[in-house]
Amino acid sequence: MGPLRETILIICAAGGVIVASTGCVRSRTWRLGGAPPPASHRAEADGETNVPVGSWGAPHESHGHSAPTSTPVRPALPDQLSFLFITIDTLRPDLGYTGYERPVSPNIDELASRSIIYERAYSISTYTAYAVPPMMASRYPSEMPRNDRHEARYFPKNVMLAERLHDAGYHTAGAASHFLFSRELGWVDGLEKFVMTGAEGNTSSGSGIDYRHTSRPLADSAIRFLENPTIVSGKFFIWVHFLDPHKKYLEHPGFSNFGKDPRALYDGEIAFTDFHIGRVLRALAASPAADRTVVILTGDHGEAFGEHGFFYHGRHIWDEVVRIPFLIYVPGAEPRTIARRMSTVDIAPTILDLAGLPADKEARGESLAPEIFGGELAPRPILIDQPRNPNYPPKRGFIEGPYKLHHAIDTDTYRLFDLDLDPGETNDLAESQPKVLANVQHSYAEFVSRIVEFTPKRTIPYPKDNP
Ligand SMILES: [Zn+2]
Repeated sequence: MGPLRETILIICAAGGVIVASTGCVRSRTWRLGGAPPPASHRAEADGETNVPVGSWGAPHESHGHSAPTSTPVRPALPDQLSFLFITIDTLRPDLGYTGYERPVSPNIDELASRSIIYERAYSISTYTAYAVPPMMASRYPSEMPRNDRHEARYFPKNVMLAERLHDAGYHTAGAASHFLFSRELGWVDGLEKFVMTGAEGNTSSGSGIDYRHTSRPLADSAIRFLENPTIVSGKFFIWVHFLDPHKKYLEHPGFSNFGKDPRALYDGEIAFTDFHIGRVLRALAASPAADRTVVILTGDHGEAFGEHGFFYHGRHIWDEVVRIPFLIYVPGAEPRTIARRMSTVDIAPTILDLAGLPADKEARGESLAPEIFGGELAPRPILIDQPRNPNYPPKRGFIEGPYKLHHAIDTDTYRLFDLDLDPGETNDLAESQPKVLANVQHSYAEFVSRIVEFTPKRTIPYPKDNP
């Protein structure tokens, strides 16, 4: 994926927009599919695993060591800064701007051309119900009060991003098409206006929402919000969750031009969704709020197409399941591409920071604003958290430096991959690199020791897990 490119940068904070620095940072950038880093950088990366993670897993107030390694001057942001948040279900980072060969995303690519791009972004979890509400709360699903269903209901004590913004005087509005987003499940708490949109298509009645097209009515709802003077005359947060790329992969006349195999049909769903995202972006461009609106676009999780003998998402923590795109357009911020791996746990603190609001005190993520405005943030570990549920065994992934640890909790077994040398996760290093394994396990244990798990009350049987 992406053009062959390797860049080794030595960045020392000096001049320009960078006015304060705590040191000189060596930043490595190479795209998936590109050449691996030279041996000299492998040694450095190996060394990183000896650094204890300290309070990385701790709640927000104790993140003292996470100071950015360079602090840019933040430009004055427009008054009444507002937010258009676009989430797309089941969205792999295989898009035009990342070098994907099929022309599936001209509108997302245009947004990317003026955005800050995180080219290695990770979801918090492996499927919608453990990925979306945790993203809105900046917490891990294991620790969030919820019920025991696959379609998890999150209890009101969870503080969602829209609640924070609404409390701060934002108009909050959202649209989705899947019943998971219905108000009683708690995911959309804080949205003063919420529309569960209809569907299009000629499948028989009773078919699931995945068997019908939803992007057009979703985009229509978002456009109506953007054309609503009550909403856009002030500060607003508009969130729309697109669903069409989710299986079942449907055909869309004019968009499903890549063939009939599952991946080709999936790509047609992406192209169809992108078309309707383009309509929303054009509505924003025509709005008087266009020059004061941040646009964020991401996915809730990826999709497997047999890379590890597995299709769909959920259950497994391979990169094809948990990597997603992440773009943020901020008026006045220079477009750039950032290679540091990031997690969607950082999205809510970033939006709150840009809004001039403190992160929630229980937030696990941190604001990306220093990086958005040209600075550098230190690499931070990434946790992928799949709690036990009726369908999936508990698993966690932990990424530190180039290493990704897979932990199957029920069997207490580990795998270890070097994502820089082996982005396809084909060469398990757990036996051949015991020292590296021990170091990463140590960091992982410290990280997760600070997460207090919430165990949902069992109201349904959980079948014997099959890891
Ligand atoms: Zn999903």
